[in-house]
Amino acid sequence: MANEKDSTAKEMERLEKERRRTEAEIARLRSYLETEMERAPGEDEDAPDAAADIYEREKTLSLIRALEDKLASIEHALRSTAIGKYGICERCGERIDPARLEIMPHTSLCVRCQSELERRTRPRRQPSVEG
Ligand SMILES: [Zn+2]
Repeated sequence: MANEKDSTAKEMERLEKERRRTEAEIARLRSYLETEMERAPGEDEDAPDAAADIYEREKTLSLIRALEDKLASIEHALRSTAIGKYGICERCGERIDPARLEIMPHTSLCVRCQSELERRTRPRRQPSVEG
């Protein structure tokens, strides 16, 4: 089936592209973070935006973490593609909606399973204690 093979190649290409983009983004954020860290903190000790700086760093760090998670998912999806399991929900075995794969090429769960899992990991909305 030439068609099937073509679409697999296309999926892999798309995932590879996504992977490269994610890796580039991680590298960019990391070097941004390094530059930030290099700025001697003692220089202007009473800088009013020291807290804002810390906040920015935390935000960048969590962004990096999220991207690393995404990278792991992409790599996982690439392996799935290699064994012909790409686009199949890992939880229920149903085909994942192509429109969903279009937006999130690295996903390994269908919409239904994803939202079920999210409900389970975040059972209820906690009122924020910050701020
Ligand atoms: Zn599913």
